[in-house]
Amino acid sequence: MAMPSATPNTDEKARPAISVVVPCYNEAEVLPTFCERMIASCRATGRSFEIILVNDGSGDATWQVVRAQCIADPAFVGIDLSRNHGHQLALTAALHHARGEFILVIDADLQDPPELLREMLQVMEEGADVVFGQRTRREGETWFKKVSAAAFYRTLNYLADTSIPADTGDFRLMRRRVLEEFLRLPEQSRFIRGMVSWLGFRQVPLLYERQERAAGTSKYPLRKMIRFALDAVTSFSTKPLIAATYLGGAVGLMAFFLAIYSIVQWFFGHTVQGWTSLIVVVLLLGSVQLFVLGIIGEYLGRLTMQAKNRPLFIVRERIN
Ligand code: UDP
Ligand code: MG
Repeated sequence: MAMPSATPNTDEKARPAISVVVPCYNEAEVLPTFCERMIASCRATGRSFEIILVNDGSGDATWQVVRAQCIADPAFVGIDLSRNHGHQLALTAALHHARGEFILVIDADLQDPPELLREMLQVMEEGADVVFGQRTRREGETWFKKVSAAAFYRTLNYLADTSIPADTGDFRLMRRRVLEEFLRLPEQSRFIRGMVSWLGFRQVPLLYERQERAAGTSKYPLRKMIRFALDAVTSFSTKPLIAATYLGGAVGLMAFFLAIYSIVQWFFGHTVQGWTSLIVVVLLLGSVQLFVLGIIGEYLGRLTMQAKNRPLFIVRERIN
């Protein structure tokens, strides 16, 4: 896909050393504190920088806050998406606008400390291409979220051919070289942390303690989390598609024993009984079939959306 030549990330002249990219959805409450801490952290590195705030169709005053930041300080870039695109696409939009030599991906809610930028740059200098934050502890997250996250990463690594580090979000620093390869990946259903792992290069973890959200609530309700998990699995594995083969084998084996049992019963003349077992078998088979159809549907739906080849995001307005 050819990018128009006026696209900012091809502008070589004024390339900052660091681009910070931040997807924001209803984050008006935390954004001022975030900007303050982020800018202090960038200044402490002594390098040039830009901070790209993407408003992902927020319903609150997020865009007004972004505007005000951009007007007050030209180091900020504001991107207003045409509607809510979801975290992964908002982040993709931000990455498309990043011009820096090093790109920091960070959430707006201060769960990932902006101050770690310096340490990440140090690890970079020791030869890494990507430095990703790995959580040693998660403050203020529910028991359910921790257990489901642990189970999810185990399952994903069992299913996927790419090894995707556990306890890792999108908080990472990467070199421009890696970003350029990343921008070539065209998929609509995105699991960005996995996509970056898939790219290869030298990827190094930096351990940190994930903080509590500074304000507001999580923008990932259970429904979005499940969808995100399905995006991850369908993007990195086709193993679920052959589940039918194994389930078919297992059910076939059960059918074999049941057939022997039925024939024996017939010999002894007990053939009228068996309503319960019949119902159980019918329901079991029905649910196995629907389950397998559902799996096929998950892949097929994503294939359909991908075949449309629609743009990943639409920008309404850009400041700076
Ligand atoms: N986010 C977004 N669009 C969405 C949902 C979330 O841009 O539709 C942003 C959100 O503002 C935050 C980041 O993605 O900066 C991560 O979201 P959140 O902190 O709610 O997720 P959690 O940390 O609870 O998993
Ligand atoms: Mg968060």
